Amino acid sequence: MAIAARVRASLESQSWVRRMFELGLEMKKEHGEERVFDLSLGNPVLEPPEEFLQELRRLCEDPAPGMHRYMPNAGYADTRQAVAEHVAGNTGLPFGGGDIVMTCGAGGALNVIFKSILDPGDEVVAFSPYFPEYRFYVENHGGVLKTAPTDDGFQLDVAALEPLLGPRTRAVLVNSPNNPTGAVYPEALLAKLGEALARAESRHGTAIYLVGDEPYARILYDGLVYPYLYRFHHRSVVATSFSKDLSLPGERIGYAAVGPDCPDKGELVDALVFCNRVLGFVNAPALMQWLIKGLLGASVDIGWYESKRDYVYEELTGMGYDLVKPQGAFFAFPRSPIADDVAFVQELLRWNVLVTPGTGFGRPGHFRVSYCVEDRVLEGAMEGFREAARAHGLGK
Ligand code: PLP
Repeated sequence: MAIAARVRASLESQSWVRRMFELGLEMKKEHGEERVFDLSLGNPVLEPPEEFLQELRRLCEDPAPGMHRYMPNAGYADTRQAVAEHVAGNTGLPFGGGDIVMTCGAGGALNVIFKSILDPGDEVVAFSPYFPEYRFYVENHGGVLKTAPTDDGFQLDVAALEPLLGPRTRAVLVNSPNNPTGAVYPEALLAKLGEALARAESRHGTAIYLVGDEPYARILYDGLVYPYLYRFHHRSVVATSFSKDLSLPGERIGYAAVGPDCPDKGELVDALVFCNRVLGFVNAPALMQWLIKGLLGASVDIGWYESKRDYVYEELTGMGYDLVKPQGAFFAFPRSPIADDVAFVQELLRWNVLVTPGTGFGRPGHFRVSYCVEDRVLEGAMEGFREAARAHGLGK
């Protein structure tokens, strides 16, 4: 096989999410779709909101001339302006269209950001547990991913982060609401994080970016108000998308937003636009840019996710599982009843329940339950969780 050694090594360390996905397909073929309870994927089953279809119909009936052509690599000026006004409304900060670069989802935005800021050997620090693609995204651009721990409640451990902020640190990556834990980082912790970044910048005489990964920012529970990152560090840039709040992950539409008081902002935006082009994205999909500028206030029904969060939390804690209540996103991250989370996940396969081991997210001893699925699947999985809890003497 004549492929790059680096890619071969990555293929061999395939993510657990991918492995569970493939196993799920095999099991569905063998046992029938309705007898497999697959909670291993973050692929929401909710359809996009009605407004999306309305806009799509309107555009089909009245297409604008040239709407499928190439455009500036940053995206359409009016879409960037609409997004900037939306972000300004959410944050109370003075965003302009020039601070926004339209991208192929948050994944595309993160790659564009890392290519823009990393030289070979530069370091990015993420908090564990973390979205496993981060390692590949950072390594794509010659960077090195380091990880800092979170505490037992999966909150940022800023004291543990601080010694990791060295002369090669170029970015700290923060994902809130978090995949896989559902944790949302509060203002007080983000303020501490910002202070630690400022100290490290002056200690080393370097520039460190606070990079936010926020595709779940609008999937929040219990009336929480999202603390946007821009206020906590001057050098901030956020990657986000409409994959989750409009249920459009296959359409690959998102954006990168640069904090309005980011030093050398113009140069950073130029770099993001250039990288969007040369990574081969060229620009974010045209049709989606036409659509989403009119959909910035729309959202899927967050209550649908919140009731599933409540159900999962009540059922699993009732069985004796140790679980921090998720505050956003659509994942729960219970402690495995045995230290070997991979073995526990394999045990659950006996009841045709698929979840992802915490090991895959850099936090062994836990497993991830993805609850963006139909009630039938979620309810069907409970028998397996209950039997496994009994087998390990939970809840006694
Ligand atoms: N970041 C996190 C934490 C995610 O969970 C995902 C997708 O599951 C992404 C980024 C990528 O999202 P997008 O579809 O916007 O590229």
